[in-house]
Amino acid sequence: MTKLIIATHNAHKLKEFQAGFVGTDFILTSATDHGIGDIPETGSTFHENALLKAQTVTDITGLAAMGDDSGVIVTELRAEYGEFPGLYTKRFTEEMGGYDQAVQEIMRRLNGRPAKAYYQCTLALTQPGKEPLIVDGTVHGTLVYPNRGDGHFGYDPWFMPDGLDRTFGEVTLDEKRALDHRTNALNKMLALLAKA
Ligand code: IMP
Repeated sequence: MTKLIIATHNAHKLKEFQAGFVGTDFILTSATDHGIGDIPETGSTFHENALLKAQTVTDITGLAAMGDDSGVIVTELRAEYGEFPGLYTKRFTEEMGGYDQAVQEIMRRLNGRPAKAYYQCTLALTQPGKEPLIVDGTVHGTLVYPNRGDGHFGYDPWFMPDGLDRTFGEVTLDEKRALDHRTNALNKMLALLAKA
């Protein structure tokens, strides 16, 4: 069995990762369990932030660690705003005063254009003396307003993945995990680890 520290304090993300590692040789703990404080996301890409979190935890503990960075990107706003809110999803949401207000602001900027969006998740896994492994996962869908359901976290009640007529806020964790960006990235990581 290999110890792996998930470099997060987000209980929802940890729950999703724990479900993904069931049946593997890894025993998961979190940064919270190890008393490691918040690691500032000072990178300028999802890759840099995910790697920064994992590497910091490996440097502190000498153990394998996995860091993630994720966000929402509104497809029709790319030309005007780049990957918006993208890397700054958390900050944008806080500045707007919450998810409901953030989605209202996105709808205002879209001004009637389709609210196509995707979640991105980047995962970095670091192990002492080994090259880091980095993967990306995405799930495409549409933002809806008002929200439907209140399950899981973040934008889930406002995000309807392609191929479903319910938002992530209305589905079970297993249904979310069958489609979502974090599981998509995690499956790629597990495939890399199986080859390593
Ligand atoms: P973080 O920087 O990786 O913690 O994620 C930034 C923000 O993206 C979060 O605060 C959420 O608002 C949003 N986000 C990322 N993943 C998800 C998800 O699975 N569901 C809903 N929102 C998410």
